Order: sequence, then structure tokens, then C-alpha cells
Amino acid sequence: MESKIWLSSPHMSGKEQSFINNAFETNWIAPLGPHVNGFESDIQHYLKADSQVAALSSGTAAIHLGLVLLNIGQGDEVICQSKTFSASANPIIYQGATPIFVDSEKETWNICPEQLEIAIKDRISKGKTPKAIIAVHLYGMPYKVTEIHKIAKAYNIPVLEDSAEALGSSYHSVKCGTFGDIAILSFNGNKIITTSSGGALVTKDIKLKERAIFLATQARENAVEYLHESIGYNYRLSNVLAGIGRGQMDVLDDRVNERRANYDFYKDSFKTIEELTFIKEPEGYYSNRWLTCLLTPSKTIREGIRTSLNALNIETRPLWKPMHQQPVFKDAPKYINGVSDDLFEKGLCLPSGSNLTENELNRVTSAIKTYFRV
Ligand SMILES: *Cc1c(COP(=O)(O)O)cnc(C)c1O
Repeated sequence: MESKIWLSSPHMSGKEQSFINNAFETNWIAPLGPHVNGFESDIQHYLKADSQVAALSSGTAAIHLGLVLLNIGQGDEVICQSKTFSASANPIIYQGATPIFVDSEKETWNICPEQLEIAIKDRISKGKTPKAIIAVHLYGMPYKVTEIHKIAKAYNIPVLEDSAEALGSSYHSVKCGTFGDIAILSFNGNKIITTSSGGALVTKDIKLKERAIFLATQARENAVEYLHESIGYNYRLSNVLAGIGRGQMDVLDDRVNERRANYDFYKDSFKTIEELTFIKEPEGYYSNRWLTCLLTPSKTIREGIRTSLNALNIETRPLWKPMHQQPVFKDAPKYINGVSDDLFEKGLCLPSGSNLTENELNRVTSAIKTYFRV
């Protein structure tokens, strides 16, 4: 059996180790320290100067804290893109609130402006204005920022921008992770850069950043005794892991270029196979192409490709199963147009790591060509 080809594996730059060594030499083995501050400032400079960044233990923790900062509580309703990873939605439940799932549009596969407005109007007519909108840049493709934020503004609902998959993407030359009232990033092991586990909360409001860090470090008031006036969390990023992040930020643009090259390679390799299509960047959209996704004509063909690649030790995955199809969310209200159900049937994520070798990429494309007998 040939070696395993993973969907998206960590890719170190070689610079991480010296940051880690420095953390050990200086004994900053704690959820605070110079690398945490340095990593935050690296991200801040990358996104742009007026972003404020709080480094946290995961993207999920960042979404949870984001909802806390937006005062989401018991009985509130929060709109969430249905086509996403469960971590976008779970923190709504942590807060005792109700997720309202909204379907996608076909161009970016992200939250559909028409369905969003239908959902907001319907929720208001039923007596509750949603307290937040969680919009996601899926697989690195920006959501329809202008349209979504226009609707959010019209109804005065804050947007929590889930940019976990979209660090390095941009919309009309503005970086993803800077559009939401609060945005979040993830540095999990499968993301475009990684700290093994980690995340960040991004906001333009320095007070909100300070509040996020305060809540993420157990909400200890400024007093010698252990004084608490709010419920805290243990959500800060470790200084050791932030060191990995500093080594990764250094090569982020290379990683984006490498992932985009994977997409180009796959697209070019399958240009004669009419059955296979790819999502395109609309004008002004720039995707980091975190994962390259294939659209096939049917679930049968998608499964045929997946199982034949699996037999060759090549990992592929169906697109995210929509949240409105998840047993755990079966009772949640939903506004559905069929787009995410269809994508889930027909879509397949291909191996997309920035460290794939030419040989590995060729193994993937020849396996798929063999499936189509071309
Ligand atoms: C990975 C991911 C998250 C969660 O980030 P973690 O760092 O793994 O907690 C949230 N939303 C989306 C869309 C993700 O892909």
C-alpha cells in the first residue's frame, strides 16, 4: 500500500522550533507571554492595522466568547449558516440560545442573502428579532459580504464572522476576518496555518479585545484577593503554541499560494471530464482555497470516487453535512432552499495540503481519471 495522502495536514516552516525553544529557555510555559503578544501583533499586521486580536485556545472558544461579548443568552435566537462545521453552531447552545439555520446560495456556497432576509422577517413576525448572525467563509471562499452586511445593518443585527477557514482570503482586497462586528480565526491542525490547536477573536474595538482577554483568563478582577464579578473561561492561547503560530505567520502567503496552486492543478487536470466542476471566484473574491472541492453529478458518483480513492489510501471527504440535517439540531428552525442539501450530495473535498508533493497530486488525479476511464 502506498503512503497515506491526507486531506489537509500540518505544514511547518522550520522556524517554529526556535520560537518554542525560546519559550522553554525563558520559562514562558503559560497561557500568556511574549509569543502570545507577538502572535497577536503578527496577525494584526497581516489583517490590517485597525484590527484588534485576542489569541485564544481554539476557534470554537473564540465563537463562544464572541457570543458572550454580544450578550447572547438564554432564550435568544441566533441565525447561523447551515452549511458549515458544527463548531460554528455549538456555542449558540452553550449560551442557552436557539440556532436558526439559513441555507446557502450557489455562487459562494455561503449564507444566502434572500433566505437570510426571509428568516429575519419571519422570526420578527413570530416575536423575536435574532440577536446575531453567524456567517462563514466556507473552504476559504468569502461569503457575499456586501449583501449580508447590508441586511444585518438594516435590521441592526451584529455579524459574527466565522473566518476559521479563510485566513488569507479577501473580498475586494480587504482581508477576511475584518468584516464582522466580531470575527474569529482557527489554527487547528487541519487549517491553512496551525498552532496544533488555537484560535483568535478579532474586533476593531480595543475595549472588546480587552474584555475578551479578561473573560478568557477566568474573569479575575483587578484585586489582590481572587475577586469575580463575572463568569470567566480558561480560553487563552499557550505561549508555547503561540510560538508555533509566529513561525507559521511568516509563511502564510506561501501557504495560500500553494493551496491555490492545488486548485489550479486539479482544475486543469480534469478539464476534459465534463462531469466534474469547481466553484469559481466571483469578481473581487479571493479565496485561500483551503480545500479544493469537486462537484460531481450525483451522490453515487461522489461515493464512487471517494471509495476508489480510499482504496488507494487517499483521504477525501464529502462537503460539510448541513446543520439542519444533523440529528442534534433536528428541532432547530430552518430556512432552506435546497442548495446546501444538493452540495452535500454531490460535493467532494480533495487532498489540499500545502505540503502535497507532485507525486501525491498525480496519484490523486490519476485515480480520478481511472474512475472516469480517461
Ligand atoms: C475549524 C472550524 C471551526 C472551529 O475551530 P477550532 O479551532 O477547531 O475550534 C469553526 N468554524 C469553522 C467553519 C471551522 O472550519
